[in-house]
Amino acid sequence: MAKLEELSTEPEAQASREAEAEYTLEYPVKCPCCSAELDMVKVVRLLRTRVNFTSTLPRRGRVIACPECQKIIAAELAGFA
Ligand SMILES: [Zn+2]
Repeated sequence: MAKLEELSTEPEAQASREAEAEYTLEYPVKCPCCSAELDMVKVVRLLRTRVNFTSTLPRRGRVIACPECQKIIAAELAGFA
């Protein structure tokens, strides 16, 4: 796809693509946002910066994003370390 070449020439786009982790999918799936066929996804940690002290929300979480369009896609990882 020509779209990939365009993105790689932009330094800002490259920086925004850095993620803490990448996970390989057991078989390819299509991104619901950009329809790219994915064989891996990016995982970005959520760090809590502000919370109501009565909140029962977990301290940490993660966002799973499409490596092509950077949009958040539905997925789940097992286990909170
Ligand atoms: Zn996508």
